[in-house]
Amino acid sequence: MKVRYSYLSQQFGNCPDLWASLKKFVSTGDFTLGKPLKKFEKNFAKIIGTKYAIGVNSGTDAIKLSLKALGIKQGDEVITAANTFVATVGAITELGAKPIFIDCDDTFCMDVNLIEKKINKKTKAIVPVHFTGYMTYMPKLMKLAKKYKLPVVEDACQSILANINNKNAGTWGITGAFSLHPLKNINVWSDGGIITTNNKKIYNQLLLLRNHGLIDRDTVGICGYNSRLDTFQAVVGNWLLPKAKDISNQRIKNANYLDKELEKISEITIPPRPKNFRIVYHLYIVFAEKRDKLYQYCLKNKIEAKIHYPTPIYRQKAYKFLGHKKGDFKVSDEHTKKIISFPCDQHLSKKELNYIINTLKKFYKKK
Ligand SMILES: *Cc1c(COP(=O)(O)O)cnc(C)c1O
Repeated sequence: MKVRYSYLSQQFGNCPDLWASLKKFVSTGDFTLGKPLKKFEKNFAKIIGTKYAIGVNSGTDAIKLSLKALGIKQGDEVITAANTFVATVGAITELGAKPIFIDCDDTFCMDVNLIEKKINKKTKAIVPVHFTGYMTYMPKLMKLAKKYKLPVVEDACQSILANINNKNAGTWGITGAFSLHPLKNINVWSDGGIITTNNKKIYNQLLLLRNHGLIDRDTVGICGYNSRLDTFQAVVGNWLLPKAKDISNQRIKNANYLDKELEKISEITIPPRPKNFRIVYHLYIVFAEKRDKLYQYCLKNKIEAKIHYPTPIYRQKAYKFLGHKKGDFKVSDEHTKKIISFPCDQHLSKKELNYIINTLKKFYKKK
């Protein structure tokens, strides 16, 4: 048996209704900021629970344009997670700002108890990363943000429809940044991103920023970017978005099933699953003893396990200039030795899930 990681060919391999919509759309020629994009934005805002949503060309730009709209510039400090995907840090440094890292806890999100001592006069924003489908503990983070009057941009790229106390990712901060990259839970056929907000002023600013700062065809109001979400991709998004709730429900079901069986293996530790969190399992990660051997064993047995990530972003070569060294973020470092990700997506069969479980049981009994 084989358990693949990517389910894209299953998701898009047989969708005649989507092809029919695309064919109809192409004949309209409405390619730039077209009608299907407006529909996608309206419905995206609705399912997340914000007044507005603005399509942009990637999750990275969703973060970058949010920070730009807040006036983040050269020399400012932006607090974010030490273990995030490179995109969060890239968005901050592209604006000339300095990422100030916070270590994570066993939920893979920043430990909000460590934030306050990193706040100083230069601190201008906080970018919590709702990593792997968990959420940063926003009730506490928002209290801090309020105390220090710091705007919060949520990196919700991995956490569409995650929530804490029934309040969704992307509705806590001034903006929420989502990715529609093919590997994300709600995905299109190319790069894509979308920003949620309740703030009309920020909304209007973002509309300008994503489209060269153009107020109208002949008037450039501010310096902007070319960062529109392709209307073609919005047609794909409109096809998938009505399934978003089912997709997250199925991922949660699969994760609960894996949890229940894997926690019987003493060498495996399941991360904490707080009751008031809705975790949407963009990644299903557990902590494993003899991780490297287990990883090889899985690959040999045709389970496409992954490590997210073997080297945390704070130790990557490109960000050496920030002056960090190994050991600065101990939990992130410790995780790199123990974490292993397994497929958990909505297209997996019970058979495949059982194969993962049985392969792990077999591995640990063999030693
Ligand atoms: C994927 C991702 C991004 C960036 O999204 P892109 O659409 O690939 O630009 C940002 N942050 C996190 C945590 C991500 O996983």
